[in-house]
Amino acid sequence: MDSNKRRHVGHRRDNTVLPLAAGVAVVAASCLTLFVKALLKRNSKPTQKQGKGREGGSAPKSPGAGAYVRGMREREYVRLIPDVEMLSLQSLLRRIQKARGWQFRDDAARDQAWARVLATAQSAAGGAWPLDFTPNDVTPEQLQALCDAVEAEFLGGLLAEQVRRAGRPRIRVVLGVDPRDPYSWLSGLHEDNTIFVNSNRWREEVSQDNPLVFEGALCRSKLEALAHTLGHELTHAVVLNFFPAMDASSPAYTPDDKHGPVFMWLNRRLFGHVGHASKRLFNT
Ligand SMILES: [Zn+2]
Repeated sequence: MDSNKRRHVGHRRDNTVLPLAAGVAVVAASCLTLFVKALLKRNSKPTQKQGKGREGGSAPKSPGAGAYVRGMREREYVRLIPDVEMLSLQSLLRRIQKARGWQFRDDAARDQAWARVLATAQSAAGGAWPLDFTPNDVTPEQLQALCDAVEAEFLGGLLAEQVRRAGRPRIRVVLGVDPRDPYSWLSGLHEDNTIFVNSNRWREEVSQDNPLVFEGALCRSKLEALAHTLGHELTHAVVLNFFPAMDASSPAYTPDDKHGPVFMWLNRRLFGHVGHASKRLFNT
């Protein structure tokens, strides 16, 4: 169904790999991200699909709503979020920060939370994930455990509680080909709270020597990259399950295939993610 359009990480179906000399320092990541954003912006196609889905060109106009452009600075795009929506977002963020026990500006706490997710995932109770997993060997139980770990650490269990309270289907992860979007990039969230992770895109190695930058986060293993990917999809799931009206039609959320100002604002505060692009640091 077109109205059940999926969200996916990123938009480009090509696999741009930027040739960079080995030995580029980690600090180059942010510069690279900017460069990649510029590339993506230059190459981006219009995301509006007339007459197909809710994200089409018939979105209602509101002051400034048409002005969102990918790559905008936060102080620019935050003005495009209506006050009533911002108040709801801030209220939820306060609850989540209280539940998880740290503020979004606390970089050290965030890094520790990601480290705990990885440690949990590698433990027996968390699915005994190998850092460099093979998609064919991954079980549904492992995927559920990883998603639950990310949710618990970063959302403090509030999304799971909201889903239960609203009688919505539990968030679940499927590693395979998305039937609605066989050409999906890394992953996508469906309206029934299913996150599809495209197994075809998870066969490459991600390692210390060949890391991946996911929305500003340096991932040194495939497991780390997958955890961050689930975080991205959980940002969509937060909007879908806490603010369904916003998910359906907010001009501050729906632009750029539902990566508009609301998504950008939340994804940064919930997971520390900036932008939406994953890139190799090195071309090996
Ligand atoms: Zn997305």
